[in-house]
Amino acid sequence: MKYFVGIDIGSTSIKISIIDEKKNLIGSKTSASGSMFYKYAQETLDLLLKELEISPKDVVYTVSTGYGRKLYKEADENISEITANAIGARASAKEFGEIKTIINIGGQDSKAISLDNDGNVTNFAMNDRCAAGTGKFLDVVALKLEMGVDELGEKHFKAKGTPLGVSSTCAVFAESEIIGLLGNNHSVEDIVCGVHYSIAKRIVKLVKRVGVKEGIYFDGGPALNEGLVNAIENELGKRVFIPKFPQVTTSYGAAIMGVDSFLYDQN
Ligand code: ADP
Repeated sequence: MKYFVGIDIGSTSIKISIIDEKKNLIGSKTSASGSMFYKYAQETLDLLLKELEISPKDVVYTVSTGYGRKLYKEADENISEITANAIGARASAKEFGEIKTIINIGGQDSKAISLDNDGNVTNFAMNDRCAAGTGKFLDVVALKLEMGVDELGEKHFKAKGTPLGVSSTCAVFAESEIIGLLGNNHSVEDIVCGVHYSIAKRIVKLVKRVGVKEGIYFDGGPALNEGLVNAIENELGKRVFIPKFPQVTTSYGAAIMGVDSFLYDQN
């Protein structure tokens, strides 16, 4: 059996996908990027191969992508995360239909990608200048409210009334704004919901720069947060598709690219 590996070395986490020749996802794993991208990528891959009982010899092609892709020297090829994201999104959303717009929120940036009918990237917009509208913003908020980022989603749905206005765009100022809101006796649930809407508003502005075309696909770690998904859908006024494993779309796309490159090299 031949296997293909996609490694996405992001600013916050490393995502690895393993697929077979038919491009079926066999397994995936996520770990923190930390400061030693290469070391952690290799360790995560070794662990995943072990868990799946796959011999490293059976991995015939590896494609790296993401912020730290060039640091993974063992890769046969490296590709941009925008290309990998587009390939992975189309393949992950087969049951949903044609994908025309991708919203990706990562640990330190957010992107809107526009695709044509053949899945080619025609335009993209990116925010990597400040933490607003990124996973980092959610991490800061969760830390201040003494909970994990994975708990923000359920709090969102317990908020009451109109979402609270959270106007700070900088994560540092947001922290002081949250302290002020807590001091004014606002509930944690209302604050979390307000934060989600403030991020959603920024994301919608970003998407509008490339044009809002349905079907819309949302991925990256923050897509695991159902509260944020709800706020983005309400702000966009459109349904958004979330894949089963939103954090590994880009590594899945890189692995798919690996199958195509491998088969091309064979011919
Ligand atoms: P990158 O590719 O830039 O490394 P990711 O797509 O891995 O970023 O997203 C990282 C962000 O995802 C984190 O900063 C965090 O806010 C969010 N996140 C990670 N896991 C979860 C989870 N279980 N629930 C909600 N949010 C999460």
